[in-house]
Amino acid sequence: TPIDPTRRRWKNFRDAASLLWRQRAVGERMYRLIDLLTQSAYDYLSVWFDSDVVKSVLAYYACIGTFAGPRSPGTAYVILHHLMGEHAGAGGWGFVRGGMGAITQAIARSGQRFGMEIRTNAPVAEVLVRNGRVYGVRTSDGGEFTAKVVASNANAKTLFRQLVKPEHLPAELLSEIDAFRTFSTAFKMNIAAENPPQYRAFDPQKTGFKYPTYVHVAPGIDYLERAYDDAKYGWYSQQPFLTPVVPTIVDDSLAPPGKHVVNVFGGHAPYTLKGGDWSQEKQNLTRAALAMLDAMAPGFSKQIIDLEVLVPPDLERIVGLPQGHIFHGELTADQLFWQRPVPHWADYRTPIEGLFQCASSTHPGGGVSGIPGHNAAREILRDWKRLKS
Ligand SMILES: Cc1cc2nc3c(=O)[nH]c(=O)nc-3n(C[C@H](O)[C@H](O)[C@H](O)COP(=O)(O)OP(=O)(O)OC[C@H]3O[C@@H](n4cnc5c(N)ncnc54)[C@H](O)[C@@H]3O)c2cc1C
Repeated sequence: TPIDPTRRRWKNFRDAASLLWRQRAVGERMYRLIDLLTQSAYDYLSVWFDSDVVKSVLAYYACIGTFAGPRSPGTAYVILHHLMGEHAGAGGWGFVRGGMGAITQAIARSGQRFGMEIRTNAPVAEVLVRNGRVYGVRTSDGGEFTAKVVASNANAKTLFRQLVKPEHLPAELLSEIDAFRTFSTAFKMNIAAENPPQYRAFDPQKTGFKYPTYVHVAPGIDYLERAYDDAKYGWYSQQPFLTPVVPTIVDDSLAPPGKHVVNVFGGHAPYTLKGGDWSQEKQNLTRAALAMLDAMAPGFSKQIIDLEVLVPPDLERIVGLPQGHIFHGELTADQLFWQRPVPHWADYRTPIEGLFQCASSTHPGGGVSGIPGHNAAREILRDWKRLKS
């Protein structure tokens, strides 16, 4: 849980001292943390590497899901955000057998062992509050559920701007949440294909396997920066960067025998286009992305059986992500730690007693890490006895 240095409380002082003591090994290299939080990915990497190829391999991570280019200040941290899962003991990136839905199914099974009851297709229309205290939720079909504690996994913008009536919230929180940046430029292509892409640059003889499961397509730092330039001025990248992932190489449960699923994550495709409309431009973005894939893996587009392209307004509509932001909000220093999602309410609590936030619009942000939920659960347990039913 982020410590709020702006709150003058004995607990904050004690927690800050304890954190500094535990991290004392960082010692005189502490200034590197400032570099990491403020520098561009390119500047940060240039201290360590000369090769543009190495820099672009790493700077790519700074661009995933971020409305920025590798030369934008603050993007160095985003590399860490994507790679911290590779840290020894963290488990690393991987595929989930059966697709990502298998994770929520596993969470459901685990909860059901403790008597958890799940309602799907039941959007919450209002969080019910009386005298500054939460007492339940009302679903859009009019059903009311009472509870001592409500933990909201919806984006903080949705929670504070749509689900809680404004009279229950301080004006400062409302203006801060309006300023929380969620403008997304990420897009997704879900492809059913006869075969995975066969990359010119990939040599099965050398690697000892037939296809790579995960690839970054971005031939250089300037390429990544130009992709951002287009988005900066309100248009989609004429040459997008792409992450084609083929889970069916390691998971035969996702497609009929011999066929493949190719998930392509890409950037940039701004939530709104300046002087254009996604209903017309989606096909042009698709064309640009497939042209790039064909340049790297000749003939791939001929292998496509069917494809679905999702731009930020689609992600907003389908998953309920404000402006389609895959991480619930930009991952820059001004929107992390004690400022995520808003100053003073970044410890998973809210101004309403018993109402907690547990989504990735809280620290440390998006990615399937489970950390926001884990931290929120710890804070709920801390308050549990104090909260009256
Ligand atoms: C295209 C795409 C690709 C991604 N790729 C990766 C990746 O490769 N690796 C990775 O680690 N992460 C990836 N992410 C990010 C990752 O999926 C998210 O960070 C993660 O799912 C966030 O989890 P969450 O529980 O905080 O929020 P969410 O998964 O967004 O869950 C919030 C839930 O709240 C629901 N909700 C909203 N409003 C209401 C309401 N009023 N009533 C009831 N329910 C409501 C939503 O429907 C949603 O199910 C990707 C995301 C996207 C969109």
